[in-house]
Amino acid sequence: MNYRHAFHAGNFADVVKHIILTRILAYLMRKDAPFRVIDTHAGVGLYDLSGGEAERTGEWQEGIARLVERGLPGAAGELAAPYLAATRAQNPDGVLRYYPGSPFIARHMLRSQDRLMALELHPEDAAALKENFAGDIQTRVTHLDGWAGMGTHLPPKEKRGLVLVDPPFEEKGEFSRMAASLGKAHRRWPGGIYAFWYPLKEPEAVETYVKALKAARIPKILRLELAIRPPSTPPRLFGTGMIVVNPPFVLEQEMAVLLPALADLLGEGRGRWTIEWVAGE
Ligand code: SAM
Repeated sequence: MNYRHAFHAGNFADVVKHIILTRILAYLMRKDAPFRVIDTHAGVGLYDLSGGEAERTGEWQEGIARLVERGLPGAAGELAAPYLAATRAQNPDGVLRYYPGSPFIARHMLRSQDRLMALELHPEDAAALKENFAGDIQTRVTHLDGWAGMGTHLPPKEKRGLVLVDPPFEEKGEFSRMAASLGKAHRRWPGGIYAFWYPLKEPEAVETYVKALKAARIPKILRLELAIRPPSTPPRLFGTGMIVVNPPFVLEQEMAVLLPALADLLGEGRGRWTIEWVAGE
């Protein structure tokens, strides 16, 4: 396990991924009934952009920093507001120094009746994550394999909520593992919302993944992608994707507003985006 998210925290992929996360949670918040967020690959939760890893790559400068500086126009700006509020909450003096990872963003949006379960396998990251949530009775952090945890913790007792799966993609075969896990999780909890992140790096691998999802007989799957540059050889991350199973009915429409604005901002003239139903609608 070599991947450390601290190098990439707040980059363009995090911005898009985390905005989708907040739109799904904003939808779940429309009803008072409690929901649960299960974050299977949670990372450490909070990242210092001014030191160490993040400073070395500077990826956040072309992600969260650009969004904070320039904002998004009109309706897109309104839809991105909960995400920016979660970021602001970690930087109360108004200077962007700390970036909230997915568990911190989810936690920021929980009401008192909601719960967060965060799984992380890297021993140091799991310890840091536990420390970051020490004393928080709404959050449970477990040092556990997220793939295994997904099986044992579904369905949650609230029967409403989101499973976020955001693996590092450092091992070969991660795409086929994603497809198999999604099929299995959906059989255990067909009513849950699932958000599975993936990198746009090798287009053929993505197409094979989507074919496998089509064959999985899951009724509703939405595919959201944003590229900031064209694919290249040798392969380099050129975009970010999210598969959303059982998406809130408003998500397609919201992303049709957000993705073009984000493509303009993050792609600087070279950005492109797609929204496609892999199954259903
Ligand atoms: N979701 C986080 C966020 O948005 O802030 C970032 C997660 S990062 C892309 C992937 C994380 O998964 C890393 O912290 C890595 O240590 C962890 N990881 C790798 N394999 C895992 C596994 N099998 N189960 C749980 N966590 C794993």
